[in-house]
Amino acid sequence: MTIRFKKENLTPPTFRNIGKCIYCGSEDTLSDEHILPEGLGGCHVLRNASCEKCRKHTATIESFVLGQMFNPIRARMGLLKNKRAKKRIAHAKTVDAYGQVRTLRIDPLKSPVAGVFPIYAPPLLFNSKHVGYGESYAIISSESLWDEWKETTGNTIQVGMNRKRFALMLAKIGHALTVGELGTDSFDPFLPPIILEKQSDIYRFVGCYYQWLSPATDDYHKYDVQIRHHDGEDLVSVKLRLFANVKSPTYLIVTGRLRMATRVWSHASEL
Ligand SMILES: [Zn+2]
Repeated sequence: MTIRFKKENLTPPTFRNIGKCIYCGSEDTLSDEHILPEGLGGCHVLRNASCEKCRKHTATIESFVLGQMFNPIRARMGLLKNKRAKKRIAHAKTVDAYGQVRTLRIDPLKSPVAGVFPIYAPPLLFNSKHVGYGESYAIISSESLWDEWKETTGNTIQVGMNRKRFALMLAKIGHALTVGELGTDSFDPFLPPIILEKQSDIYRFVGCYYQWLSPATDDYHKYDVQIRHHDGEDLVSVKLRLFANVKSPTYLIVTGRLRMATRVWSHASEL
């Protein structure tokens, strides 16, 4: 399924009224929750789905990814809405000819790196051996900008990256997508304590899809909510690709366990 993108505006967004915080269960001062961050063009909203405390927490998770790691790609795709975001300058480091590391401030539209995507092992729940993934994957915005950078600045570029925050954002999107698709009563969620950073085994549930490198498509963002039978349980997982229109990796997020009644529903819907 393709996540509808705000500027495409092809179909009206779907709304589901939740009536409690999807992270902590509180029913106080609820606000609407974007399934995909608005800063990534997300327009699907869960109504009355986040309390004030959790809203602030998830906003902090997203701000670094959107403001640093994805700022250039968002600038290119017209996703920087307000003046402050447009003026925000990405920081990059380079090593000059004398071996000195220099920190530079660059206009996001002139950055040779459009975005940085961390690469993880597949969720450890499915893969008992931890494979030593520790890489990241940078999307080069254009060869000419990269050549210009090498000529004027240096042969390397380092941009801000935070693997853990990115994984937390994936967990948040995966959880919200599952609530949007299945509602809150159909599954036992795994991720709220992880998103709220009360539990630290995030890589048990969040990782790359087995074939993480996929060709570019015409879609901005793509997802599939899938049921996977594993160790006698029906697990809900979300396959997610952000910015599928560039050669971005595919992530796999295990969001919870299907409840019995839902299992009947999910089989029935296949007929
Ligand atoms: Zn809450």
